[in-house]
Amino acid sequence: MFNSVRGRLTLWYVGILTLLLLTFSAGVYTVLRRNFMERVDGVLRSVSDVTISSLERELSETGMDELAARDTVKALHAPDHTFAIFDETGDLLAERPMGGQTLISQADLRSVKAGESRVFTVPTGDGGEVRRVVVNRVALAPMQRQYLVVIGRSLTPLLGELAADRGVLFVAVPMAALLAGIAGWFLARKSLEPVLIMSAQAHRIGVENLDERIAVRNSRDELGQLAATFNNLLSRLASAFQLQRRFMADASHELRTPISVIRTTAAVTLSRDHRSEPEYRNAMGIVDAQARRLTRIVEDMLRLARADSGHASLRQKHFHLDEALLEAVQAAVVLASEKEIRIAVEDVAEAPFYGDEDLLRQMMMNLLDNAVKYTQARGEVRVALTVNDAYYTIRVADNGPGIPLEAQPHIFERFYRAARLDPEDGQNRLGPSAVRGAGSGLGLAIARGIAEIHGGTLRLERSGASGSLFVTALPRASSVTASKDEPIPA
Ligand code: ADP
Repeated sequence: MFNSVRGRLTLWYVGILTLLLLTFSAGVYTVLRRNFMERVDGVLRSVSDVTISSLERELSETGMDELAARDTVKALHAPDHTFAIFDETGDLLAERPMGGQTLISQADLRSVKAGESRVFTVPTGDGGEVRRVVVNRVALAPMQRQYLVVIGRSLTPLLGELAADRGVLFVAVPMAALLAGIAGWFLARKSLEPVLIMSAQAHRIGVENLDERIAVRNSRDELGQLAATFNNLLSRLASAFQLQRRFMADASHELRTPISVIRTTAAVTLSRDHRSEPEYRNAMGIVDAQARRLTRIVEDMLRLARADSGHASLRQKHFHLDEALLEAVQAAVVLASEKEIRIAVEDVAEAPFYGDEDLLRQMMMNLLDNAVKYTQARGEVRVALTVNDAYYTIRVADNGPGIPLEAQPHIFERFYRAARLDPEDGQNRLGPSAVRGAGSGLGLAIARGIAEIHGGTLRLERSGASGSLFVTALPRASSVTASKDEPIPA
């Protein structure tokens, strides 16, 4: 019971309700009792007033205490009440009913001062009976002597009534709690029903049917919001899975081409018993080129996996971005010289940085490599590193043919290549003829991943007939503390 929300809700409900009912009943009972007592006392006082005026009248007529007192109590008619009149010393003058029922102790009598009226609750010791007694000490004409007028009434019938009321409450409160418990149990089931339905629906959703969603009954209530949040999570998971699947498909496709070239070359070469040395050399050359291509793809995939796996895989240290950039430029100069491309370094500010030097150098290398690769012979590549309050900005511009407009939104996707190259001879089939060698289509995806893991961004600022410009911004504060959600200026 304690392990189910339904059970706990019901217990809380019953507990709180019982507490409220008990407090309420105790309050009602107290008020009821006080009202009863006030009513009894009121009647006692009025009977007492009548008795006193009657005694005064008798005294003025007879002048004798005992006679006046006896006539007074005899003449009075108040059923259920007892009367007694004492003189000022506490001696009984008259009483009704007779039989020496002293309604009150001498000590209590003496405690009442002249002109005072007091009420006592007196146990008679007679079968547990309790009486309510009012005592008045009055000085009456003609002699102005003091008399004690005592009027009593049994509380037993009244207490019996109160006991009956108490009994009703003793039964009603547990009954109400029990009924509330049963109602609460059903109410809890009713309100938790949607949760159970949602849970059953969520249970059925797996990798194979990630496109299914939980039904949202009312999108404005809390459960509707929970379902919507869950559906959102499912959508994000679904697109992550889809991305993963596409990546796997693309990766196997990319790996299959060089492998099949190697296999075909080997099969063709081995299909004849004797081949000349140049034939073997040619075959080995093709195998070597394809093996290198395979190595490059696998290395790129590993880098991408590192950039994807978050900060944990970063090997961070303090280094200078400007020095890393100049080293990357030096490496690119070797590639550029083959095509007589000039690399111009403009504006390299001093840029101390805390991050993964190898990865960031790779990022710069990928940008420079692309700029050289896709720019025609005797072209120009310009590099700059500037700094402002919050960011280092690295710009890599070329005057190549640019990226086709329809390709621009896709160039950061994994395995996307706007200009496909012939894997065998490295010649471009679709794009510019000056392209140097086949890429894996992962270069920009890796570069962006590296920028983002350092809290920065990488984007294509512009691309057209006059060339392309890639801009990356890296936060100057430690990349670990920088948030990816912060907007980063160009
Ligand atoms: P690849 O291995 O094909 O170079 P990238 O991810 O580095 O893969 O680039 C994706 C595509 O973007 C390339 O195939 C190319 O068509 C285009 N691209 C990237 N950089 C440039 C550039 N500087 N000039 C022209 N096209 C570019």
